[in-house]
Amino acid sequence: MFSVLSANDRPNIVFIFSDDHAPHAIGAYDGWLKPVNPTPHIDKLAAEGMLFENSFCTNSICGPSRAVIMTGKHSHKNGFMNNGNTFNWNQQTFPKLLRQQGYTTALYGKSHLKGKPQGFDDWKVLPGQGLYYNPDLITPKGNVRIEGHCTDIVTDLAVEWLKQGRDKSKPFMLMVQHKAPHRNWMPALRHLSLYDDIDIPEPATLFDKWQDNAPAARYQELEIDRHMDLNYDLFVDLTADYKGTPSQKRQDRSAWRNMQRMSKDQLDAWRAFYAPRDKKFHEAKLTGKELVRWKFQRYAKNYLRSVRGVDDSVGTLQKALKELGIEDNTIVIYSSDQGFYIGDHGWYDKRWMYEESLKMPFIIKWPGVVKAGSRSTQMIQNLDYAETFLDIAGAPIPENMQGRSLLPILKNGKAEDWRKSIYYHYYEYPSVHMIPRHYGIRTDRYKLIHFYQFGNEWEMYDLKEDPDELTNIYGKAGREKLQADLKKQLVAIRRHYDDNTDVSEKPAAWQKQMRP
Ligand code: CA
Repeated sequence: MFSVLSANDRPNIVFIFSDDHAPHAIGAYDGWLKPVNPTPHIDKLAAEGMLFENSFCTNSICGPSRAVIMTGKHSHKNGFMNNGNTFNWNQQTFPKLLRQQGYTTALYGKSHLKGKPQGFDDWKVLPGQGLYYNPDLITPKGNVRIEGHCTDIVTDLAVEWLKQGRDKSKPFMLMVQHKAPHRNWMPALRHLSLYDDIDIPEPATLFDKWQDNAPAARYQELEIDRHMDLNYDLFVDLTADYKGTPSQKRQDRSAWRNMQRMSKDQLDAWRAFYAPRDKKFHEAKLTGKELVRWKFQRYAKNYLRSVRGVDDSVGTLQKALKELGIEDNTIVIYSSDQGFYIGDHGWYDKRWMYEESLKMPFIIKWPGVVKAGSRSTQMIQNLDYAETFLDIAGAPIPENMQGRSLLPILKNGKAEDWRKSIYYHYYEYPSVHMIPRHYGIRTDRYKLIHFYQFGNEWEMYDLKEDPDELTNIYGKAGREKLQADLKKQLVAIRRHYDDNTDVSEKPAAWQKQMRP
């Protein structure tokens, strides 16, 4: 439909992408946080556009998800399988192809792909994970340090480019990529007291003991109870000169590094909020489940406060588009690199193929094309974004990309002949949080997962009867036909995506990595 239009008429795209924002922490999505967590600007975007209820990642971790988006290819094809990898920027990416089609492109915020970004007319990216307060940014002209909260800084850079930086004779693709709400969940000072006067409802699975799961679920290291650190993750007694204890050396210390980076005014405001609450915590002398509950409250509140900063960003960007008079010809998308556990199953972090971290938010507003307030249940993945962006620009989609353009769904509300299942493969092990490699298939109702580094273990779930995935039906009587069928589908989908990764059971050497 766009081939008859001149280059200038093709829509602009603003891609707002956060880190670790689970769909169930967005007001417009359903879930147990819905009653307490309005995200007014993201919710408004959903009211003006389409929300995808079944949107999934292919590999639930930061860098790999971004590499899939850049390339439209699964991790085993784009080469970025773990956060430890470095992205090969010389390969085919959608921003390069968009530029060839006359688009101007920019990337601000978290890249997480290492190396110097290619395919952008302008970029300013955080080194690695970046800092929440007064962060450094790498730019084509060298490093800069900007005072303020990272979410606001990234938003301001994007708005500045929209208003003054871009070539206004070209349609644009603007990627606004936030650090928030990634660990250690440090909100902007203006959001510190948000939720202070309420209790966040607890997830039904906060005290899950993973009795029905494969052994991997009992050997992980992402429990609020045993692994979430009171100091580094929850800021208890944490100050810029905090020394910690030897046992805490392994903890992610980014909160502490952030505090060292804060200005005196920022630090004073931070401590003024947390110090009296820390005092109360010490006086309460909590243990056992009560301590878990307290940790959950502080974690969930800081996570949601960080989310609120991202929501502000969505509002600011929309306002800028309106002021520039380009709102009607600009597509706005909100997404995040994967889902997250907010106490679900007793966990924080992501990585697993279970629903909370497998799902990604995807909301798209396209005035005049996408029906306002619509919802789709068709199964989409981050694998489809590159193809969709190219299709929007009227550009050909390379044969070697593995996803599908969402345009038919966006234009017609649904697409016939759409995929009936999605494929997943996680690789980062041994590593932080100790989640072993696994892969699997999810259909609209069932999920089959194979863990091949902890023996030869399988899990199978009926998501309709058991949405929390508490009852593993693999190997259960009466399920033989379903199991055989899903296994067959898994073999076929691996062949379809050409994933030849060795998934045979690993020898004892691998299992020695397991904690007792
Ligand atoms: Ca992430």
